[in-house]
Amino acid sequence: MTRKLNNYILGKKITGDGEGRPLLNAITGEAVATASTQGINFGEVLDYGRTVGNPNLRKMTFHERGRMIKALALYLMTKKEKFYELSWATGATRADSWIDIEGGFGNLFSYSSLRRQFPDTTYCVEGDYLPLSKDGNFGGTHIMVPKTGVAVHINAYNFPVWGMLEKVAVNWLAGIPAVVKPATVTSFLTELVVSEIDKSGILPEGALQLICGSANGIIDHVESQDVVTFTGSAFTGRQLKGHPNVINNSVPFNLEADSLNASILGEDAVPGTPEFDLFIKEVRKEMTVKAGQKCTAIRRVIVPTNLVGEVQEALRIQLNKTTIGDPNVEGVRMGALAGYNQREEVRENVMQLAEFQEIIYGDLQEVAVTGADANKGSFLSPILMYNDAPFEKTAVHEIEAFGPVSTILPYDSLEDAIEITRLGRGSLVTSIATNDPQIATEFVLGAAPYNGRILVLDRHNGKVQTGHGSPLPMLVHGGPGRAGGGEEMGGKRGVYHYMQRTALQGNPTMLGSITQVYQPGGSYLEKPVHVFRKHFEELEIGETVITHKRTITEADIVNFANVSWDHFYAHTDVTSLDETIFEQRVAHGYFVLSAAAGLFVDAAKGPVLLNYGLDECRFMKPVYAGATIGVRLTVKEKVAQEKREEDDIAKGIVKFLVDVYDETGETVALATILTMVKMKNQE
Ligand code: NAP
Repeated sequence: MTRKLNNYILGKKITGDGEGRPLLNAITGEAVATASTQGINFGEVLDYGRTVGNPNLRKMTFHERGRMIKALALYLMTKKEKFYELSWATGATRADSWIDIEGGFGNLFSYSSLRRQFPDTTYCVEGDYLPLSKDGNFGGTHIMVPKTGVAVHINAYNFPVWGMLEKVAVNWLAGIPAVVKPATVTSFLTELVVSEIDKSGILPEGALQLICGSANGIIDHVESQDVVTFTGSAFTGRQLKGHPNVINNSVPFNLEADSLNASILGEDAVPGTPEFDLFIKEVRKEMTVKAGQKCTAIRRVIVPTNLVGEVQEALRIQLNKTTIGDPNVEGVRMGALAGYNQREEVRENVMQLAEFQEIIYGDLQEVAVTGADANKGSFLSPILMYNDAPFEKTAVHEIEAFGPVSTILPYDSLEDAIEITRLGRGSLVTSIATNDPQIATEFVLGAAPYNGRILVLDRHNGKVQTGHGSPLPMLVHGGPGRAGGGEEMGGKRGVYHYMQRTALQGNPTMLGSITQVYQPGGSYLEKPVHVFRKHFEELEIGETVITHKRTITEADIVNFANVSWDHFYAHTDVTSLDETIFEQRVAHGYFVLSAAAGLFVDAAKGPVLLNYGLDECRFMKPVYAGATIGVRLTVKEKVAQEKREEDDIAKGIVKFLVDVYDETGETVALATILTMVKMKNQE
């Protein structure tokens, strides 16, 4: 009997009622499992996420959440062969599955590492402090706090693993739980991964729930603190985004819909250049990897009119080399589509396109397969089309055939190439192959408003570039207009989608206590013991050393010029100062900072291990010989560090605000220095 998939909800494994929908092996057509959500109350599922998962995650710090994500990635890596084995049933080759499975783990690792860009707190400050009153007693900043809801991820069928992991990594780092609803047809693979996640026991209760099967009605239950992400067809996406519940409760809704991505061959990239070869390779790859079922796949191949013949021939040769069939058979490069319905949809869309443009490679009904039965699996030949009039025959800019299908479109000028790209009305990605910076710049500026990502391919990055089709965790994924107007991943930007940005106004001392970041103008905490004599745990935000003072002399300026070899005229030549802002020979900014260190450093060996740089540094007022400077050194922020090895010294980073002022009391230089400070507790 066929196995019924588990729904992982409400802290339990639940199979839905009834027989469930049969899910088939894309290669053999045999049943793999059935899926049912009958009898499941989606309102309860979301509520469980909000009331159990959310409090569990929001009380963890960014660093704890990041370490949790890393532990999960490492655990899943040990199970990967199981996932590859089952992934075959989705029609994927080993290479396709690698993108889905290990690409997904890669996202977990990336977001786990991103914790280092956040403080070790449950929330964070975003951006700078803004003074809002003349007396310095009032100002503002922004804080980001995790929303109190749940992330509802409704995913497409093409990436059952990556589709889930690329999203949950982000919401977990932000501190909110997820309910994942993969597309039913390939949900058996998502379920296998979630079963392993469940067994690992790494996540806190309620952090992840999985729904296998229809989720019609789930949107009726979303609330204003939830975030919905949708990946799939524009039709379904628009329907769900327009749901009255989403509109009435202003529920954030991130839509990633189908997109008519393009790749442009630059006029300079003629046959024989590395750019031409790269272009052909990328187009072939995007047509055949995952059998073209990638949201980022190249649908429109935009080439100079005089090169159409050569591009067509080069692609024909490459596509002929692509063996289609059972991915388990040696030499097979392209597997099957995810299911019969998906193949039927592609065929229908190609037939609509064929009313306006001709098929120049491939056959919609016939396909030679290796090691499989073409009648049982959902196989389809790559289909290359040619459209001789991209401005008149516009179906190619409207209809997406979500399979191994692309169309060659000719252009006569770069302006035309930009205009043709724009006819897609918003894409996830466009690439251009050119080694000409002028062409690249003009194209990028013209096409960028219509694209979420642009890849410029040339001979210098050909071997190392990550590919037209690969969204990267630290860069934005999503596109404007037709592509849905969404934006996901993108490093910190992605995390912020699951957090509330709140402008926080108040007295700088109060804001410092709330944010755990010293805000300029906040009161100084003067203590009898110098900050360099204290361990990490003993330092308090706002703790300040007010130093003795030093009068700068002509000799200091001359000596520093000699030591540093910086003989810039303003430091050395009094006759050169006409029409400059300087009235006298000015001290080097770096000297002022070095002199400041001389004032604030407590020299004896102590808990400070090293100084490893400056975050910000500004020289705000010229310092001339005769000026007397003093320093206020204030603990601005503390970030505990993790031990990499068991016998590492336990330590943290302390950021100090260095405020150098002169005899008038005015600040002459301001910098943030970064020091590494030992912890008292060496456990
Ligand atoms: P789809 O039919 O729009 O389905 C997408 C998801 O929505 C599936 O999980 C589906 O579940 C679910 N769904 C449908 N109706 C729903 C409802 N009333 N309430 C809640 N969930 C509902 O798209 P698809 O056929 O799976 O995916 C192919 C399309 O996705 C292509 O057009 C492709 O371009 C696009 N895509 C875009 C991206 C991107 O990042 N922009 C990525 C991949 C794919 P069921 O499976 O249970 O129906």
